[in-house]
Amino acid sequence: MALKLGLVGVGVIAKAQHLPVLAVSEDFDLVAIASRNATVEGVRSYATLAEMLAGSPEIEAVSLCTPPAARTPDARRALQAGKHVLLEKPPGATLSEVEELIALAARHRITLNASWHSRHAPGVAAARAWLADKTIRSVAIEWREDVRHWHPGQDWIFAAGGFGVFDPGINALSIVTHILPAPFALQRATLGFPENRQAPIVAALDLAGADGSAIHADFDFLQQGPQTWDIRVETDAGPLALQQGGARLRIGGADATPPPSHDLLRGEYGGVYAEFARLIAAGESGVDLAPLRHVADAFMLGARSAAPPFHF
Ligand code: NAP
Repeated sequence: MALKLGLVGVGVIAKAQHLPVLAVSEDFDLVAIASRNATVEGVRSYATLAEMLAGSPEIEAVSLCTPPAARTPDARRALQAGKHVLLEKPPGATLSEVEELIALAARHRITLNASWHSRHAPGVAAARAWLADKTIRSVAIEWREDVRHWHPGQDWIFAAGGFGVFDPGINALSIVTHILPAPFALQRATLGFPENRQAPIVAALDLAGADGSAIHADFDFLQQGPQTWDIRVETDAGPLALQQGGARLRIGGADATPPPSHDLLRGEYGGVYAEFARLIAAGESGVDLAPLRHVADAFMLGARSAAPPFHF
């Protein structure tokens, strides 16, 4: 039977992905939303999560689609009320607050799931399987997009705790932490902060794998023209490339992308909700903090430079 779900934060990603997937999901039944501004037809609407929990106590699971700095108080409240919780990425604004949520979920014997939607992109599972027994020599990550196009007016992204260019960059890190067979650690980083903002707009990271591989990442939020979300891995058996955010896979120069599917439930957010349902059924939590830890490391170790002021 479908689990009754409440969703918090009806913004860009909720409208583009969560609501369409939930409309066809057999695992979840969207019964309520909490939003300061929006309503969803056919679904009870509340202004806040607290009102939603009080007014719709039958809710069993809560999906939090708000920005990271605003999300943890709601996650805490939902877990304390005994609801399973799905977190959009990144799972929180700090490592410590997410660790507190992990402990809270364990105490209440409920599921906390930190989702990483990019891990469900079509080429990622096949890339992970192919790389599992390869020797990795180097990895080049290029994540360049136009913040004005993808995040128009989202000032939170450049506030403290908003992640800046790491908001998309953490998607690349969520893929490489998933597909590379060995862990890796940051060696050095440079972060460019617009002088009127609290989060970086450009970043370059050098990381080293425990297997001796060298990983370089370029994140850029000011990309004009073609947008780039590419990961190229050089191995002892030839190159592997994940392109378009994991939508396309090339192995040894040949297209290895799995056949396309127009079924929403087989897309990235179909995968997100399928994983949430599987974890709930298994009585487990799923919180991989590795991508967030690399971003935290970059903020700790990175050299900062001043970039020109940024205005949307
Ligand atoms: P958004 O549209 O700017 O914000 C989402 C919603 O959260 C807003 O519509 C608002 O909902 C609520 N909200 C915003 N600021 C808030 C605050 N300070 N306090 C409480 N609620 C607040 O953001 P988004 O692009 O959907 O991103 C939300 C999360 O999804 C982020 O963590 C982002 O990394 C992730 N994500 C985004 C995308 C994307 O392409 N945009 C893709 C994948 C993942 P109400 O008006 O309903 O209250």
